[in-house]
Formats: sequence, C-alpha cells, structure tokens
Amino acid sequence: MRTIVVSGGSSGIGLATVERFARAGDRVVSLDVAEPRDEPAGPVSWVRCDVADWQAVEDALARVHRDHSLDVVIANAGISVRHGVLDLTEEAARRVVDVNLLGTLGMWRAAARLMATGDGGVLLATASVNGRRGYPYYADYNATKAGIIALTQTFALELSPRIRVACVSPGAVLTPMQLAEYTDEMLAGVNARIPAGRHASPEEIAAAFHYLASPEAAFLTGQELVVDGGETAGATTAE
Ligand code: NAD
Repeated sequence: MRTIVVSGGSSGIGLATVERFARAGDRVVSLDVAEPRDEPAGPVSWVRCDVADWQAVEDALARVHRDHSLDVVIANAGISVRHGVLDLTEEAARRVVDVNLLGTLGMWRAAARLMATGDGGVLLATASVNGRRGYPYYADYNATKAGIIALTQTFALELSPRIRVACVSPGAVLTPMQLAEYTDEMLAGVNARIPAGRHASPEEIAAAFHYLASPEAAFLTGQELVVDGGETAGATTAE
C-alpha cells in the first residue's frame, strides 16, 4: 500500500485528490490548517499543520515515513488575495509567498531528504496557469506559482532518477468556495474565455495528480502539466 501526503486536503482540489487516491486503495495523510468538513471515506487521516512552518511539516512527514512509507508528496495548499500592486501590503504578500512558494519548497525538501534514503518517490505540487502569464490583481500569487514551476525543474535535475518531480497547473477550477463567490454573470464570463466553455471540476485536477503519481508517468519528470481547458493555448486577455 502506497502512502500519499497531500497538503490542503480539507477542501477543493486537495480534498478531491485525497478522495481520488483513497478510492484507488492508497493510504492518504492530509496536512491542513483546517479540519475536513466531512469525515473522508477510506484510509485517510488529517494532521493539523501550517505548511509555512517548515519544522511542523518536517515532523509530520517524518512520522508518516516512520509509521508507513512516504511514496508521493503533493504540495497543494495555497492562498490568494486579490489586491492591486499599488495596494499590496508587505504582510499580505509575505504570507502568500510563505504558504505557496516557501511552503512547497519546505515540504519538498523535507520529503526529498526522507525519500533519498529509501526507495525514492514522487514530488508533486499545484502551480497555476497564473504562473505562466500575467493576471491582474494577483502579482504575489502569480509569482509564487511561477516559482513552483522553477522548483519543479530544479528539484528534478538534482534528484533524478531516484525522485520524480512534476506540477499541475490548473486553469479555472470550480471549487465550492469559488461557486459561492460567483454571480451567474461572472461564471458565464469566465466560461466564455475558456475554449472548453466551462471550469474544471476539482476531480479533473485530482485525475492529473493520479496519473503523475502512477508508474505510467515513470519517464515524466521536471515538467508542468497544464489542465486548463485550452485557456492558455492562444492569445487571450485575462480580466
Ligand atoms: P481551497 O481554498 O478550496 O483549498 C485550499 C486548502 O488549503 C484549504 O483546505 C486550506 O485550509 C488549506 N490551507 C491554506 N493555507 C494553508 C496552510 N498555510 N497550511 C496548510 N493548509 C493550508 O483552494 P483550491 O482552489 O482547492 O486550491 C488548491 C490549490 O490549487 C492552491 O494551491 C491554489 O492556488 C491552486 N489553484 C486553484 C485554482 C482554482 O481555480 N481553484 C486554479 C489554479 C490553482
């Protein structure tokens, strides 16, 4: 039985990913600052952990490694705050970088140290199409996602062939939280910009992680898998 650790597994993409791996027969440990709303089905456990706290993440991963094995680590937890560059505060920007970028770096570093002494493993993360092009009002967020793509390339070069590394860049994903924020008009507006004509479901992003973690992706490392319904395939204008 493989053990998969997912950060941000209490909601949205992370929750769908936890459920996807558990359904397929893997043991899953979710690291999240928030409790899961529902008791997840299957061999799933939750550890309260802030991914910005490297020591806490290192301790949590060491426990998983000691008690089971550490096969796949998915750095998915992320936050975003809408603010123009003129209004950006230092505190808010530092928190976005601490959670999204340094949170991924710390989690991957801790996992790689443990995996390097055993049978190796797979490091995955959630980047974003926002890391590949400009998107107004999310400068700090976009920079963290571009950074995750750079981490993916660098970790792969340093850790191959023992450890594989990849990230998924979702386009617009319809999570419950996003659905609550959208008016019908906003939802239709975003859908109109996407060649597929709709948002992704969290399950469609989880499916990409499931593939990347599988032996079928054994020759894939150092790469970003874009799952965006064609949104970034051509020249489009983000609002
Ligand atoms: P979400 O808010 O539904 O879930 C994020 C989860 O991360 C929550 O359970 C939250 O409690 C947890 N979390 C937040 N800060 C944390 C911290 N410091 N330590 C541990 N856990 C923490 O969001 P989501 O839409 O599912 O986003 C998941 C990832 O996908 C994020 O990295 C986000 O940037 C990325 N993403 C989302 C979209 C989208 O359209 N929803 C698109 C591209 C990328």
